[in-house]
Amino acid sequence: MRFGIRTLDEFSLRGKTVLCRVDMNQPVDRKTGTLKSINRIRACVPTIRELSDQGAKVVLLAHQGSDIEYKNFYSTKPHAAVLAELLGREVQWIDDVCGPAARQKIRELQEGQILLLDNVRFVSEEQTLFEMKLQLTHEQQAKTLLVEKLAPLADLYVCDAFAAAHRDQPSLCGFEQVLPSCMGRLFEKEYCTVSQVMEAPDRPCVFVLGGAKISDAFLMMKTVLDRGVADQILTGGLVANIFLAALNQQIGQGSVDFILKSNYGEYIEKAGELYARYADRITLPEDLAWVEDGVRREAPVGQLPAQVAAIDIGHKTAETYGAAIRSAKTVFVNGPMGIFEQEPSEHGTKAVWNALAQTEGFTVLGGGDSITATEKYGLTEQMGYICTGGGALIRFLSGEELPVVKALRHGAAITKQ
Ligand code: ADP
Ligand code: MG
Repeated sequence: MRFGIRTLDEFSLRGKTVLCRVDMNQPVDRKTGTLKSINRIRACVPTIRELSDQGAKVVLLAHQGSDIEYKNFYSTKPHAAVLAELLGREVQWIDDVCGPAARQKIRELQEGQILLLDNVRFVSEEQTLFEMKLQLTHEQQAKTLLVEKLAPLADLYVCDAFAAAHRDQPSLCGFEQVLPSCMGRLFEKEYCTVSQVMEAPDRPCVFVLGGAKISDAFLMMKTVLDRGVADQILTGGLVANIFLAALNQQIGQGSVDFILKSNYGEYIEKAGELYARYADRITLPEDLAWVEDGVRREAPVGQLPAQVAAIDIGHKTAETYGAAIRSAKTVFVNGPMGIFEQEPSEHGTKAVWNALAQTEGFTVLGGGDSITATEKYGLTEQMGYICTGGGALIRFLSGEELPVVKALRHGAAITKQ
């Protein structure tokens, strides 16, 4: 038991049918239907291998959305092929989730065999709950088709989908009501890592917040400042731009237009309030960069031309941030410092990411684009921990109790069906 949740160590697995919920949701190339990245599938491997090695009959539940998350769904068939290759063993797949064909296949599984079911979101209760904002209690989720059809075939439910731990859905929170359940190895590792950051970080603890998802940054900033988790927040990307705009600093008309167009205007007021309270711990860029005719230009904050768009932090800021990161003991990172996808505006992200690789402090990094930047600069191995969860991570750091954690804690009391 860790954090009130059971772990795989508490169960004997040989001959047992185990339902294992994983998060293998990856960016998909919409033209070809192929996966653009496989990092989450790779992260699922240790738990699946352990279950199979221990002689369990492994039934995997997973979802795959499109890039616009709750709009289109893709089959999990390509994931089975990738997983088989990573595991070096057969992974069966069926184009059914909980119908008669899937159930028959589950009954036929032998010890050690692995079966991946098709996308759980093809079962409507899984996603309408979220999309229509319908709230089913966890008890009610246990009465959905998915749980009613699959639970009777299984001995144990394992949740390894930390990246989906903020989703209140039957495949994630329903089985814990009726089956003995525990977290998988990846979930355990990610949950322990982020709990450590939140509860007892080595200090100084520095947060690096950039990128374009302003709502995420603002969700967690207040909590980590109020609770004294963050000793310093280094801002970049649009997060920095919003603060600068709140302080009436020029960020360029292009950036202002972007903020207004994206409905980020509401955050300007919040940024002003937060800065008024925590100016000593929120660090803003001292210089900014923009691109003119393909050429990078920089100016100190306050001297930016009005008609440009601030799309990166400047060299001086990158140096200051790098020094703070190198002397930190814990660094949490979410969101790049600028539009790093383009060469003229990549300097800030590149420099900060290099500092992350160099620091002796423990680095925790999350967010799709932040991971892409890490891969782009070949720094994956140098990071302390790369979290597969974006949304779950942010919500955890904003102090919310994650629905899956709640369900698993509740499930810790269930011993037998
Ligand atoms: P993550 O996926 O790591 O959580 P986000 O999705 O929040 O990060 O933000 C990543 C995106 O933000 C990148 O595509 C990057 O180009 C963009 N971005 C960063 N800085 C700026 C900026 N100043 N103006 C506009 N876009 C920015
Ligand atoms: Mg992103």
